[in-house]
Amino acid sequence: MRLRHHSERAPRARGSKAALFCPGCSRESPVDGDWIADDGTARQRLLCPACGAVVIDQPTF
Ligand SMILES: [Zn+2]
Repeated sequence: MRLRHHSERAPRARGSKAALFCPGCSRESPVDGDWIADDGTARQRLLCPACGAVVIDQPTF
C-alpha cells in the first residue's frame, strides 16, 4: 500500500479529543490536559488542579 496522499495522516486513531469541564469552577481542558490524575484508588479519577473538584470518577476498564 502506497502513501500517495501525504497530507492525509489521519490522526483520528484514538478518536477526537474530548474536553472535560470542571463542575466546580467550569474550567475546560482536554481529557489529557492538566487534570490531576488520582491513582490512589481502583477508579479512574481526575481532579481539577484549580479547585480540586472531582471531574471524572469512574471504574477503570
Ligand atoms: Zn475546578
